[in-house]
Amino acid sequence: MLDMKWIRENGEQVQTVANQKGIAVSITELLKWDEKKRLLQQEADTLREARNKLSYHIGTLVKQGALDEAEQNKRNVKEINEILCITEAGLADAERQFDKLFELVPNVVSPDTPYGRSDAENLELKRVGTPPSFDFEHKDHMILGGLHDMIDIPRGVKVAGSRNYYLKGAGVLLHRAVQQLAIDLLIQKGFTLLDVPLMVRTEAMSHTGFFPLGEDQTYRLTDEDKWLVGTSEVPMVAYYANEIVDVENPVKLAAASVCFRSEVGSAGRDVHGLYRVHQFAKVEQVIVCKADPGLSEALLQEITANAEQLLQCLELPYRVMAVCTGDMSQKTYKQYDIETWMPSRQSYGETHSSSNLHDFQARRSNIRYRDDSGVLRYCHTLNNTAVASPRILIPLLENHQEEDGSIRIPAALQPYMNGLKRLTQG
Ligand code: AMP
Repeated sequence: MLDMKWIRENGEQVQTVANQKGIAVSITELLKWDEKKRLLQQEADTLREARNKLSYHIGTLVKQGALDEAEQNKRNVKEINEILCITEAGLADAERQFDKLFELVPNVVSPDTPYGRSDAENLELKRVGTPPSFDFEHKDHMILGGLHDMIDIPRGVKVAGSRNYYLKGAGVLLHRAVQQLAIDLLIQKGFTLLDVPLMVRTEAMSHTGFFPLGEDQTYRLTDEDKWLVGTSEVPMVAYYANEIVDVENPVKLAAASVCFRSEVGSAGRDVHGLYRVHQFAKVEQVIVCKADPGLSEALLQEITANAEQLLQCLELPYRVMAVCTGDMSQKTYKQYDIETWMPSRQSYGETHSSSNLHDFQARRSNIRYRDDSGVLRYCHTLNNTAVASPRILIPLLENHQEEDGSIRIPAALQPYMNGLKRLTQG
């Protein structure tokens, strides 16, 4: 959420960002309802004041025996009440129209965000590591998963429908190992670990900026009017909703959670294997800090570096992308994606997403802190993946395969795999 006063003064800039992010909202229309709302509010206040004055005098007039005048006042009060009723209905309508548009207003973007219409126009900033050049016919993760009896998609589909899967045996061990490695790494870096609710209220989704635009991506528990989270960012940020937080030192939170996504609109896309599924696990980093742009920029670099460190521990080649305007969400101010090399796709695939939201999310969630002069200000919030599995198993299995189908376990993962150095068949 942006400050309305700021929007009034910078309407054109906000409209430009909305267009660049592909969000259909008219700022002219928003300003029109804003103005109407303010006028009707003033009108209602004036009417209430006049009515209260008249009502106050009725008693005195009766006591003084000025009954005709008292009767006239009563008629005037009735008339004002009728007009007030119409004004209040108009005000409620203007507020509804305003709110509907206001919740669509996007965050502005950083000056160094590249302009572009889709992820195809994201800008590569750096590459780390070299994709392996196999001197044998390499296999994709589904074949490797079959060889090691680790991945079962047909039974996942039988039991839960498309884009579902079972992990089995060593597949489960790897899935848990990457998450535990990420958790341990974040704990070493001073993050506090949370175990979070996965079913949340509508307001947690809207206040963190996932609704209304992401509503069709989210599973709803109809009987309870709750939603299954698509990321633990929601319960981690909502943890501080409506609170004044001590951010003298940035608050660093991490959670490992299951994530649920309907993936509406992705029909026919990434249908092979484990890339895009309805249920996956993610270790997420969230930071809440002072509204200092220099500080939150440094923290964005820090959480991005944490994800890079994890990929280096997994010995995987990756690249860092500056995400362009058209590929950014409504709430994002600046974003990097990390893409990891996936031999079966002969390309890098997105495995991490790192965002600075400035005060957009905190304003919506009413998360504040007291600055050095005691003034209440909205915090900045940031988030990034530490690891998401099973997607990360794609590069992990495919990059570390050997000619006989065995899979090398990177040294950093071995302690989480009971010391296992490689997966061999049988
Ligand atoms: P996001 O929270 O959308 O920024 O996604 C963070 C990471 O979660 C992505 O980079 C992927 O690694 C993973 N991810 C997101 N959506 C899916 C999905 N439908 N299936 C598997 N992994 C996913």
